[in-house]
Amino acid sequence: MERERVAERNQLGGALRSLNRGNTSHSQEVTLGRLPFDDQLEGGLLHVQHAGGDRFPSSDAAITHIHHVHLTSTCEVGELISHWRVAPSSEDMTQHTTVGGKACHRVTTLVNWMERLLDSQASEPRDQWRRPLETLRLSLTARCNLACSYCQPAHQEVRQLLTLEQQLALIEACCHLGVRSLRLTGGEPLLSDQLEPLLQSIQKRRRACNGPVALLKEVALTSNGLLLDHAKAQRLRAAGLDRLTLSLDGLDAAVVADMAGLQGGSTAGHRTLTTLIDAIGYAREAGFDPSAGALKLNSVIQRGRNDHQVLPLAAFGRAQGIECRFIEFMDVGSSNSWSLDQVIPAAELIEMIDAEWPLVPIGRSSGGTANRWRYRDGRGVISVIASVSEPFCSDCNRARITADGQLYTCLFASTGLNLRPWLEPEIQPEQLIRLLQAHWAKRHDRYSEERHLSITKEAKRADMAYLGG
Ligand code: SAM
Ligand code: SF4
Repeated sequence: MERERVAERNQLGGALRSLNRGNTSHSQEVTLGRLPFDDQLEGGLLHVQHAGGDRFPSSDAAITHIHHVHLTSTCEVGELISHWRVAPSSEDMTQHTTVGGKACHRVTTLVNWMERLLDSQASEPRDQWRRPLETLRLSLTARCNLACSYCQPAHQEVRQLLTLEQQLALIEACCHLGVRSLRLTGGEPLLSDQLEPLLQSIQKRRRACNGPVALLKEVALTSNGLLLDHAKAQRLRAAGLDRLTLSLDGLDAAVVADMAGLQGGSTAGHRTLTTLIDAIGYAREAGFDPSAGALKLNSVIQRGRNDHQVLPLAAFGRAQGIECRFIEFMDVGSSNSWSLDQVIPAAELIEMIDAEWPLVPIGRSSGGTANRWRYRDGRGVISVIASVSEPFCSDCNRARITADGQLYTCLFASTGLNLRPWLEPEIQPEQLIRLLQAHWAKRHDRYSEERHLSITKEAKRADMAYLGG
């Protein structure tokens, strides 16, 4: 199916480019597969059928569907443009819709636009920056058993949690559109009773090898680890969890208490720290092998709060053979009193560690968040997630779905798309797929790269414990 779409796109692009080169003898018929589009989404199903330049539809509806295009030398390019009302998001084309006559230079824009349109209709859509959808972060709850300083969860559950069936429908639809990596998160996902049944259902589908969920390459979990006892770790592994990332922001009891928002100072911090270190052991025993990347640690670093823990954390990772991922304190949400001076840029973190244990860069994989480094002495790997100082929006492939079914296409967004109406029993899976497809195709978020622009700071943003990180 995907191969056919690519062939269609190439064929159409080739035909239009040929016109652009002024090839007047060119005549080509391009038949695109029928790609039904839901009229509730974009304002109307529209077939473009043209033979000889006189039957282009003149409609105010945005083109959301192209069925059959016949280009001949008698088809003036300007006419082509003036007859095609283009999608509202395509501003560069809108301004040309009233211009008639030959306008070959505009064909390039048209080709780009057509390619984008076809990309968006492909079974694996691209967004406005041609970024694919490859990773889904699904939040299971907004609740948490900690109150980390940088996160400040609301401690309230969302009003309508997604059911297991709804979660599976979303995972299935997203896999259909290209998602290959699923991360379950929260709030604290180990508080969710649905975690294990969900993992088991995903596992069943992956093993069946015949649906889109079977295309998942990995299922991962991010957790603070407090509820991870021996039995739980074993059950998660048996239920098909591939990777586990646990949060650990320090190795000093008072720091842990401060970072986790615990009442009770060092005593409470010590208890939590011991529990976390035990959890790391349970995870390892259950088969989450850190040397295979199946067990990692996340540490958010805030200047003046836990920056003196960077070296102890790195030393702990080296001793345990676990990759520590140092995360820059991000301005997610509206309740963590973020300020730039509390951010330790990744370069400074690396300098600190490199001075103690020299590092060799590995780099960041495309679509990934972590910039990785290995220790020159062979004692493992560390990474930094530099969302503030070195944004990686350009290849961001992540969609986030909250525990109550809101789709966010950026961690820094203030609103999401409510998917609940599309999870009602009378809605067909294809309709959900088309909604997600169309929404992804319109996506143009790149907040981190635009952080310096004041316009991006106006709206109240969703909190991290709701979005899931
Ligand atoms: N409760 C789980 C945990 O803490 O691992 C999962 C949810 S938590 C929201 C996901 C990740 O987001 C955690 O690794 C956490 O450290 C990170 N995080 C939360 N707030 C952050 C912030 N303001 N800046 C950077 N990372 C943050
Ligand atoms: Fe809870 Fe995770 Fe937020 Fe900490 S970072 S408060 S553990 S959701």
